[in-house]
Amino acid sequence: MLVVKTVVELQQFLSSFKHQPVGFVPTMGALHQGHLSLIEKAIAENDIVVVSIFVNPTQFNNKEDLEKYPRHTEKDIALINDSFNNYQNMVVFLPDVKEVYPHPVKKSYDFGNLSLVMEAQHRPGHFDGVGMVLERFFEMIHPTKAYFGEKDFQQLAVVRNLAKQLKLNIEIIGCPIIREINGLAMSSRNERLKLEQKEQAANIYRFLQEIQHQHKSLSVDKVKQNFIAAIKTIPALELEYFEITDGNTLLSINDWEETSYCVAFVAVFIDGVRLIDNITLYRENV
Ligand code: AMP
Repeated sequence: MLVVKTVVELQQFLSSFKHQPVGFVPTMGALHQGHLSLIEKAIAENDIVVVSIFVNPTQFNNKEDLEKYPRHTEKDIALINDSFNNYQNMVVFLPDVKEVYPHPVKKSYDFGNLSLVMEAQHRPGHFDGVGMVLERFFEMIHPTKAYFGEKDFQQLAVVRNLAKQLKLNIEIIGCPIIREINGLAMSSRNERLKLEQKEQAANIYRFLQEIQHQHKSLSVDKVKQNFIAAIKTIPALELEYFEITDGNTLLSINDWEETSYCVAFVAVFIDGVRLIDNITLYRENV
């Protein structure tokens, strides 16, 4: 496994594998099993794998969140190395900000409804930052396939939209959410939580599972109310949003009849740490 910091070194490595499938896994580091599951899939499906570790400043709308984002690159590299037995056809790309953005850039994208709801609404400019960094990485790497977690479900939809808009010949692969044993979705931000807070945060998924059982018998409104009421029983959790939407458009629904693919989304704060999660309530005929 090779570790490089510059685009020149990265492209030099890739040039020795011309015409072979390249899998790309973008990350912001503080790696956990969720990230490793993406890398594992990329190894299985490609000849070469690029893993980037880059805390992208343009996708942070909150300065404190950017400053407090966990960073421990040496540990990350050791984890990848150990997990994949020093896999030879892999390069870990650790650019600095100047390498990714040699010239100041400020782009804004139209992702349709995806630019307006949930994460887009509560993190203004976030998906513009995601678009900017991925456009840059895609242009450096030219991957055959790129891997993203369903944990960031809206981001995955945005990336699919971006690839279509830019007419990129890249297959965007969605990967299932990896969870702690207590159900908490793995996240780099979990590192900022104390043990007790992790247990409190595990209720998020427990409540999502509860409403999964309710959707057939109760109205959309009632299910929403039940979830919000459940979150309120855990004083440490501060709800930012909860939405029940069509899984393709991410438009909110009022009636189950409106969609055959329904996903519930939640964002909460716990002691200033922002966590997101989602659950597919049902998916029919697909
Ligand atoms: P991040 O480092 O948070 O930017 O995440 C890098 C990639 O890993 C994104 O595509 C995330 O959706 C994915 N990811 C993060 N957490 C998980 C998880 N618990 N399960 C699956 N994928 C994840």
